[in-house]
Amino acid sequence: MALTEDKQVIHHVLLVAFAAQGHINPLLRLGKRLVSKGLHATLACTGNIQERLLKQFATTNTEDESNNSKNHSISGIQLLFFSDGFDLDYDRKADLDHYFNTLEKVGPVNLSNMIIEHYYNNHKKLSCIVINPFVPWAADVAVQHRVPCALLWIQPCSIFAIYYRFFNKLNSFPTSENPDLSVELPGLPVLSTEDLPSFVLPSNPFNSLLKMISGLYQNMKKHKWVLANSFLELEKDVIHSMYELCPIRPVGPLVPTSLLCEDEDSDVGVELWKPEDACLEWLNKQSASSVIYVSFGSITVLSAKQMEAIATALKNSNHPFLWVAKQPEVPTSDGAGQLPNGFIEETKDQGFIASWCPQTKVLAHPAIVCFITHCGWNSLSETIAAGVPVITFPQWSDQPTNAKLVTAVFKIGLKLRRNSEGIVSTEEVETCIEEIINGPKSEEYKKNVMELKAAATKAVASGGSSDLNIQWLVDEISNGNSCESEGFHFLSDNQSAEQDKVTT
Ligand code: UDP
Repeated sequence: MALTEDKQVIHHVLLVAFAAQGHINPLLRLGKRLVSKGLHATLACTGNIQERLLKQFATTNTEDESNNSKNHSISGIQLLFFSDGFDLDYDRKADLDHYFNTLEKVGPVNLSNMIIEHYYNNHKKLSCIVINPFVPWAADVAVQHRVPCALLWIQPCSIFAIYYRFFNKLNSFPTSENPDLSVELPGLPVLSTEDLPSFVLPSNPFNSLLKMISGLYQNMKKHKWVLANSFLELEKDVIHSMYELCPIRPVGPLVPTSLLCEDEDSDVGVELWKPEDACLEWLNKQSASSVIYVSFGSITVLSAKQMEAIATALKNSNHPFLWVAKQPEVPTSDGAGQLPNGFIEETKDQGFIASWCPQTKVLAHPAIVCFITHCGWNSLSETIAAGVPVITFPQWSDQPTNAKLVTAVFKIGLKLRRNSEGIVSTEEVETCIEEIINGPKSEEYKKNVMELKAAATKAVASGGSSDLNIQWLVDEISNGNSCESEGFHFLSDNQSAEQDKVTT
């Protein structure tokens, strides 16, 4: 066991992430907060993105970058990589079922070996493993090594609660026989089929993802603590509704600190695609609160018809716009993801098209008036932290529910409605743009999102609800609450009262 000079134990925390930007960054930001409270943190993910990550650190974190190939770190968080069982050039998205099935077999062995090599062979005390939902098998590795495990849920607490009730069969959900059933759950608005996470619907085609989430919930007892990238003031009712079932403790929003009025230099995060910083110079030339920002995240690819409808609406709006039209990683033959012919030329004085942008800097720019988003939870957390109202265009997974939270709970924007062909028409996009910018409720959306921004800032500041939850976790880890008592960390009455004091 490693000892400091005053003989205190050094507590190491291992953060295990699925190799995607939206999974790594919340874990890194949690790691940074744990480090600021005296723990040591290491992030581990699969080696397929090692080269891309390290290349970026070489340019953005030179003072933290070590040339020693075994000792890369960013902002005090060491980075480790393990194999996912595939060659580096293998197309991991080509067959998701095969990929996740293989990762589930190979990942635990390789992660376990990495733990032995890095911690035990170096006499370091591994006091906690924090995992995210796409690596549920890492909880088994934690149990195997008798290390307490925390889950960092990277979607809203509302989604955690819905899945909890779905997989534990606590409530009725739509079935093939009753596909249009609306769902009423504690702490949430009534959810129609179109508001539910797509994986719980009978129409869900992504079996491997459903299986993975189901496995996570079956294994929930292996997680001693459940944390979330959210904040109490944002989802109070649903968080309270989970106290008796499986307490979930928000520690976020885990977004760049610059969005929450903290020092920009203190941020930690990775970019898996190179952002076009020129868009910031372009934004500098636009009037305050004039630019529509459009992005559908890293995965969504819209049909050619949908791209055309949005393009025409943006052009007709006469507002300046910044559109991240990320090209599909695998080229399509039907024009999906492509801008209409001639659009860039026609709108060169009105818009900026980027393939990837520095989104959080864009959202924080005073020129931005609203965000047309697919409602990925990272994007939504960022827009809340930046105080920018939204027009939602959810696609799959948690996004439909996130969009419902936007309109029915947070009240910070409105939703694009699809027509009978499943397309959002040009007229619908035009109407929503007009509504969010000039409509009777536009002031209210802005006021609500600014209030949430203030609440988010307070939550992560010293003594705020998320900060206190992180301190509580640090105390739990430091006090050596090992994994002897497997199972949910149900609070005793006293602890529960304490926790209420802490988080409410
Ligand atoms: N993002 C970015 N530049 C872009 C578009 C997106 O940096 O041009 C970032 C965005 O800030 C967010 C992440 O990519 O942190 C997208 O995550 P989200 O959960 O919103 O959606 P996903 O990509 O997982 O669908």
